[in-house]
Amino acid sequence: MSDSDLRTHAEEIHEQFSDQLDLDVEDVQERLDTLVNEYKVPMSEARRSVVNTYLDEAGMDRDQLGGGSGGNEQVQVSDVDSPEEWVDMRVTVVDLWDPRADAVAQVGLLGDETGTIKFTKWSKSDLQDLEEGKSYSLRNVVTDEYQGRFSVKLNRTTTIEELDEEIEVGDDSVEVEGALVDIQSGSGLIKRCPEEDCTRVLQNGRCSEHGEVEGEFDLRIKGVLDDGEEVTEVIFDEEATEELTGITLAEAKEMAMDALDTTVVADEMREDILGRYYRVTGPTFGRYVLADDQERLTGPVDADEVLIKARSI
Ligand SMILES: [Zn+2]
Repeated sequence: MSDSDLRTHAEEIHEQFSDQLDLDVEDVQERLDTLVNEYKVPMSEARRSVVNTYLDEAGMDRDQLGGGSGGNEQVQVSDVDSPEEWVDMRVTVVDLWDPRADAVAQVGLLGDETGTIKFTKWSKSDLQDLEEGKSYSLRNVVTDEYQGRFSVKLNRTTTIEELDEEIEVGDDSVEVEGALVDIQSGSGLIKRCPEEDCTRVLQNGRCSEHGEVEGEFDLRIKGVLDDGEEVTEVIFDEEATEELTGITLAEAKEMAMDALDTTVVADEMREDILGRYYRVTGPTFGRYVLADDQERLTGPVDADEVLIKARSI
């Protein structure tokens, strides 16, 4: 048996005892090596023997081991915040990528209501293939971390059960509340570059990439929400802008034509929404929150301020 095979088995055993014993993977590998290569013991026997040794050492029963015991914590994707934890998850396969190494059978993205996380399934694990779009209960997966990003590994002790229900996948949305304290330039009725895959906002009829072009009208608001402690930049697309201001793209174009000036649209919008309070939810993009959903609030969002107001009435 090759060293890399032994290493994989040694790492799996090491992971099984990661909570209980401070094992050295090298030691585990050496023990396996002796049994398999010197004494010609079958790998499964060798594993059982080595595991038994460590069970004794830890004063544990076999059913306390991560390994089909069903004793793991059921976690959600956003709960994964440390490596080498044995956990159970209910997830949907969001995406499958091409494995770059022979040791990997499948690699991709799993998701639940709280977000998405990368997964790796080892070739040696001999597990069924996961299918994109299907939901599964996964028991006994191990968490891992690389450069601050977490993932889960499916190994030979993992069990996979397809679910009848569909686990919905969330998109890491955030929720911000605050007063709309600024509407930035490039808001209101804008023109975008019509070149394929460009969509840059034109400045004085020019695209920074394609020069002078016949732009296409669009509605957008780049706003700043202030909750009293920090400010968040929010982008409202055409649909969100229409919902926010009640002004449609057609109406905006009409307003601009009547005034022979597109800036009247942003002015009108500013009058209606500036200084008002909003709750906005949506995914983040760089420093921006992209508004998926917004709600006008009746007053300040700071609970203390609301209290003070209530007392003074
Ligand atoms: Zn362009």
